[in-house]
Amino acid sequence: MLDIKHHGAVQGVTGSCHELFIDSDQSVLVDCGLFQGAETSGSGADSNSLEIDFDLSAVQALVITHVHIDHVGRLPYLLAAGFTGPIYCSKPSAKLLPLVIEDALKVGVTRNASIIKACLDRLASQLVPLDYKVWTNIPLNNNAKAQVQLCRAGHILGSAYAIFRVEGDDFCRPKGTTYRTEGAADRQLQGTIQQKYWDVLFSGDLGAPYSPLLCAPQSPYRADQLVLESTYGDRNHENRATRRQRLQQSLEHALSDSGTVLIPAFSIGRTQELLYELEHIIHQNKQKAVSKTRSGVSLNWEDIDIIIDSPLASRFTDVYRSLASYWDDEAKRRLSSGRHPLSFEQVTTIDDHATHLQTVSYLQRQTRPAIVIAASGMCAGGRIVNYLKALLGDARNDVLFVGYQATGTPGRDILKYHNKPNGYVMFDGERYAINAKVQQISGYSAHAGQRDLLNFINRMRVKPQKIHLVHGDDGAKRTLKGLIEKEYPKCEVVVP
Ligand SMILES: [Zn+2]
Repeated sequence: MLDIKHHGAVQGVTGSCHELFIDSDQSVLVDCGLFQGAETSGSGADSNSLEIDFDLSAVQALVITHVHIDHVGRLPYLLAAGFTGPIYCSKPSAKLLPLVIEDALKVGVTRNASIIKACLDRLASQLVPLDYKVWTNIPLNNNAKAQVQLCRAGHILGSAYAIFRVEGDDFCRPKGTTYRTEGAADRQLQGTIQQKYWDVLFSGDLGAPYSPLLCAPQSPYRADQLVLESTYGDRNHENRATRRQRLQQSLEHALSDSGTVLIPAFSIGRTQELLYELEHIIHQNKQKAVSKTRSGVSLNWEDIDIIIDSPLASRFTDVYRSLASYWDDEAKRRLSSGRHPLSFEQVTTIDDHATHLQTVSYLQRQTRPAIVIAASGMCAGGRIVNYLKALLGDARNDVLFVGYQATGTPGRDILKYHNKPNGYVMFDGERYAINAKVQQISGYSAHAGQRDLLNFINRMRVKPQKIHLVHGDDGAKRTLKGLIEKEYPKCEVVVP
């Protein structure tokens, strides 16, 4: 068994950062994410103190599972703390990562162009883009040997789970476990078997099967030790068709009174998935009446304005389009049939701040319904905040949550208090009444549901001996732990 220290995503779902010890004084870091809301590392770091709060002396390399800010947001602090090793990520992630880091620096650290450039140059010099499913040696000292392989995780474009294969003589599997060497038949172990290597898998964020645009994650052949996310360890999602239908119904309901529908969404991944789904809804329902202007003129689906108010999201959408070779077959088919799943007529993207402010006040006085997608996904900052401040008080408007809302974020408060008498949410020290209608489509998640998580383990031919559950609220982790223990009594399940 290998030692793993968890520096984040232990108390909740943000700040992902795990340290795998190859031997007593060499380690590899997996992700280095930002904390959001009330979540902390437990040893000093939180959403306000972002400095690296653990010893870096053993860290030889960093592996990035995907480019969401809660997995990469503290990378500039890691570089500032003196980390000079290789940074491994998938090829699509390597294209997306500089945009995320640049934005994180601008939002949270500095607008000084030369500092930003220095940080991005440093990042580029350490970045090692990897193909999926290819083993890569990690440079180590003292004859230690370890390799890493990235496999598609189906969470956002470029997302991966990482398998580390660590060589050594003292790894063993106990009697009674089913074991199969690659290519051979399953057999029950009669005695303890020595293994020459040990595979440790870090799931990163695992996607649900049939996510728009993305290939579904497939389980690896084996994992001896598994660090598994558990965001939805206590819930299952609806299937793809149901959730698209629910999205369409929620939007039709919301648009029926001519208001604005606000969808808080991560700029990366979720926004592109929503665009992809909206294009399909419009494609199938072009002539269907969905709303009216204030003066009573009937509007069809193809007349509805969709506003993407996020410079980062629109830059990301461009990169997503340039990476169409990584899309799933369905998305490629739509593209080759002449459709434009990520850039269609009804979409307006807003870049500069002045236009953003104009749009907010226009929508406050508006006479036409609209759909606005803006970050951040949990309403903890970003342009969505100005929209919420301006539009939450009007009962004609709707807020539609499609993603997970962490404890302590305004998003969670809106969900919790919207149907309470005099419900309100705080932004910048002020109360904002919630009169807008609030809906949540929980099935619409970029994360695997409970059954998907269990299937991920179940489909491995050689099952883990130890599973560390991270990246989930207490209830989700407890429920999932119980289910795994019941199904695999020989597996040790820990909740760090
Ligand atoms: Zn993520």
